[in-house]
Amino acid sequence: METITNIQQQKEAHNDRIVFGHQVYGLVGAQMAFRVELLVGFDALIIDASDPDFTRLAIRKIRGHYNPELYLKPIFLINHRQVRDTLIDSLHDGILFSYDHLAEVSKKVDEMFMLSTQLDQHLPTNYEAQVFKKVLNFMFTRGRKVFTPLLDVNSVIGYSYPELSVNFERQEEAQVLDILDWAEKEGLIWPDFHERVYLCNNCSGGYLSYREVCPHCHSSNLASQDLVHHFPCAFIGPISEFKNPVDSTLSCPKCNKQLRHIGVDYDKPSVINKCNNCSSSFQDMFVKAKCMSCEQDTDVQYLVSRQINTYRFTKKGRTAAVNGFFSSSADTEDIFGTVPLETMRVMLHYAMERLKRIDGLRTNVSVLYIENMYELVHRMGTRSKKPLLTELVNIIHETISPQDFVSVETGMVFYMTLNDMSLSQAEKIVQGLDLKLEQALNKNFNGFKASIRTNTVALEPGIPVADQLQKLSQALYADR
Ligand SMILES: [Zn+2]
Ligand SMILES: [Zn+2]
Ligand SMILES: [Zn+2]
Repeated sequence: METITNIQQQKEAHNDRIVFGHQVYGLVGAQMAFRVELLVGFDALIIDASDPDFTRLAIRKIRGHYNPELYLKPIFLINHRQVRDTLIDSLHDGILFSYDHLAEVSKKVDEMFMLSTQLDQHLPTNYEAQVFKKVLNFMFTRGRKVFTPLLDVNSVIGYSYPELSVNFERQEEAQVLDILDWAEKEGLIWPDFHERVYLCNNCSGGYLSYREVCPHCHSSNLASQDLVHHFPCAFIGPISEFKNPVDSTLSCPKCNKQLRHIGVDYDKPSVINKCNNCSSSFQDMFVKAKCMSCEQDTDVQYLVSRQINTYRFTKKGRTAAVNGFFSSSADTEDIFGTVPLETMRVMLHYAMERLKRIDGLRTNVSVLYIENMYELVHRMGTRSKKPLLTELVNIIHETISPQDFVSVETGMVFYMTLNDMSLSQAEKIVQGLDLKLEQALNKNFNGFKASIRTNTVALEPGIPVADQLQKLSQALYADR
């Protein structure tokens, strides 16, 4: 058992780390150089939380990272001041009041580590599944079972689900709802109504300014006043016509009688609105909502209504962190210049029949897998995925010959045929293509380093195409 003095001495000696038993804690603070990748080696992290802005940034960088070695890292806060911040409050693993609490905390660190060894390591192939699996992993190691929406001024929709939202920028919060919709469709979670929000139909922003406006010119410069109905003479008019400049009594402009008691000789059946901009009078105003993010002014009936739910895991969802899950919704979006994988299988089948009959024909099949496409799609948003894939397919077509086919699977795996050449020639072409794609991606996306794997085989007559394709892609994931 370590003593407090020992810990203090070690803290002073090493400055950026504390050794406690077999565990090494990394210290993170605003005054230290903070490079998130350097934190991988520690068993747990202690953030000096005296500066809430820094704490928020550090937690975002760690929990929002795609590497499990980082986003699953136990995080404890020291010098913590209570501020209202859902992200900080939901994503740390404990508060240290002093370093002598490490004894308690170290058990928790061990527990989380043990749980993390049970996680399914397989990386799902589509974007939504990858994001969701990541969140499942985090929640499993923390024993959390519910996605609770929290009121959050830092979210553009007013709510956040911290475990999920930390993977998105604040203006991308509506994407969090899309991921939850996806997970619900996959049968991983089930919803429980919590609240309804209205979002901008242009940018999905939730900061809207609601105004009553003139139905004719849409100005919000309006004045409303009561309508007065005088019973004895049946006159109805705006209250200003009943007023006089001297006292507060009301008298009828038609019959000149003084009004006495509301409900007895007169009443106020309604209000009348007048536009100070176009001078028109009207009974009903329009309600418009101006988006504070994109400035679009929308009639309220056209706002997008979204349900904010509390989500619990289904049985499938509860076991998915450990057992993994198979996503049923493959990416079926058609990319220009590609054929569906099914079609490619059929075509390869015919190619194989020809190989059997005609000597000297050769067909190669190649698969190319952009391992960290997830990172890129995440950075650009799901909407940019299709244009990006189209661009990549263009580059592939520039490299292979016009009679060859390309097929895209799950948005990050490309299959292509390379006809009438030897396997080594095909391999050379694919190598060149790999380089070309890497250069294009690295050049266009600052700081991104594309990680691409390829595998090429010559089609063998007599073996079913499906088996050959399976072997082809298996080899791709094998030595990870
Ligand atoms: Zn009257
Ligand atoms: Zn008007
Ligand atoms: Zn907007």
